[in-house]
Amino acid sequence: MYRFFLFQLLVGILGGYIASKKGRNPLFWGLVCFILPLMVLVIGILPPLLKSGKTRQCPYCGKVLRESDTECKYCGKEMPINLVQCRACGSFVPEKDYCMQCHRKLKS
Ligand SMILES: [Zn+2]
Ligand SMILES: [Zn+2]
Repeated sequence: MYRFFLFQLLVGILGGYIASKKGRNPLFWGLVCFILPLMVLVIGILPPLLKSGKTRQCPYCGKVLRESDTECKYCGKEMPINLVQCRACGSFVPEKDYCMQCHRKLKS
């Protein structure tokens, strides 16, 4: 029992570490991997979340793309040139008055 606890702890730390590398919530994933050690495989497979400068989110389907992609490989839509990060939900959305993800005002 005690050994298994140690194993869980290690996997939890590993999961949290992978999560933070991928721009995901390390606390959440650390806990998930601690409770369900197999979840470390899931976080290992999951694509990285938005990381400034490297990836961005498709404003149409929400998938994560490379910064350099000019069109979304998932939904095929062309990427708008000016993307801004919504302060309310954190999505990268076309520079308009309102965020098309959460519909909150983008500009104050
Ligand atoms: Zn898309
Ligand atoms: Zn938003």
